[in-house]
Amino acid sequence: MNSYDVIVLGLGGMGSAAAHHLAARGQRVLGLEQFGPAHALGSSHGGSRIIRQSYFEDPAYVPLLVRAYELWEDLEAASGADLLTLTGGLYVGPAESTTVAGSLAAAREWNLPHELLDAETIRVRFPTTAPDEDVVGLYEERAGFVRPEASVAAHLSVAGRLGADLHFEEPVLDWSAHSGGVAVTTARGTYTAGTLVISPGAWAPRVLASLGLPLRVERQVMYWFQPVGGVEPYLPDRHPIYVWEDRTGVQTYGFPSIDGPEGGVKIAFFRKGIDTTPDTLDREVHDDEITAMAERAGRDLPTLPGRFLRGAACMYTTTPDEHFVIAPHPEHERVVIACGFSGHGFKFVPVVGEILADLATDGTTRHPIALFDPARSSAAGSRT
Ligand SMILES: Cc1cc2nc3c(=O)[nH]c(=O)nc-3n(C[C@H](O)[C@H](O)[C@H](O)COP(=O)(O)OP(=O)(O)OC[C@H]3O[C@@H](n4cnc5c(N)ncnc54)[C@H](O)[C@@H]3O)c2cc1C
Repeated sequence: MNSYDVIVLGLGGMGSAAAHHLAARGQRVLGLEQFGPAHALGSSHGGSRIIRQSYFEDPAYVPLLVRAYELWEDLEAASGADLLTLTGGLYVGPAESTTVAGSLAAAREWNLPHELLDAETIRVRFPTTAPDEDVVGLYEERAGFVRPEASVAAHLSVAGRLGADLHFEEPVLDWSAHSGGVAVTTARGTYTAGTLVISPGAWAPRVLASLGLPLRVERQVMYWFQPVGGVEPYLPDRHPIYVWEDRTGVQTYGFPSIDGPEGGVKIAFFRKGIDTTPDTLDREVHDDEITAMAERAGRDLPTLPGRFLRGAACMYTTTPDEHFVIAPHPEHERVVIACGFSGHGFKFVPVVGEILADLATDGTTRHPIALFDPARSSAAGSRT
């Protein structure tokens, strides 16, 4: 007999949520993580992640977001942790930009409350900003940020309380699947289970090598600056999260000040990464990148780039169309895969946990995941 119902490979954002949802359904769960709990070596660190609903990436994500918001609140209640803060969200750019037009399309399709603001209104309502005359903004109240490390820790703690066995510092070296179940090998031994959930983040190209998915692992840097004049105007009760697109299509995003008077404010480029691998990731943040970030930030929010405080590197695992991969493994019915979150997955963490638990226990889910099929043309790899 299998000693576990489900093994979860990788206990980062998605895997910790899957372990929680599976344990909550009475499944005997083993979670295996190569590093410690809520570590800073993958994709789920850096203190904050944007959460928003008028989703410019594709309106198809909106029902998942609505469910995610409910589950974030459930997780706060179950864990007692402070995870989700709604500050409002401001998406600025030329009217026809992805950021503005895409957000508006999603808001209209799903009747999400939103306001369209001209440049002058943005400037008056959000005094830290200095938009050009010819840009506009979409503002939605139900946006804000979640705390990634605390979220992973909360999912792990509730999963453990519900009986999941969670092993850290135990890398999976190999896995195999047959019609009756799966076997997973680490340096400490081989474990068997009915089903395997694989949520390996930036290690997907290695752990799922046989699928040949066209994944790119990108280095992405987060920057913290202490604003000129202090963080007061950036406090979360008066400052929204924002995404700001310039005329060339480059997006930056940022947060209110959430780390105290000397903690600064965080800002980053959304997609301006260079290709890397988890083993070769350059974790140092260089002067030329800091200068480029400060220059761009200062154009949109003139007081923001006062003094550079710190930077941190993180990894995106990106598919060609920037949509996720969540599905039963195309070759093994006892295996479920979740990867390719393309730099925008964290806000979905609890609903991805629910979907993975559905797929692992029932083989199907009520949630709309057709967009995440690994066989779609832009994600289908060359199978080896
Ligand atoms: C700079 C940056 C900013 C971002 N901003 C946002 C944002 O504002 N909003 C948003 O929604 N999303 C954002 N994202 C994206 C989001 O954080 C990711 O999509 C999400 O964290 C991915 O979770 P994951 O579980 O796939 O990866 P991870 O959290 O990295 O988890 C994968 C886990 O698998 C483990 N693992 C891998 N291989 C093995 C093995 N062989 N054995 C055992 N364990 C293994 C790893 O150690 C890791 O813990 C951002 C990402 C970055 C990098």
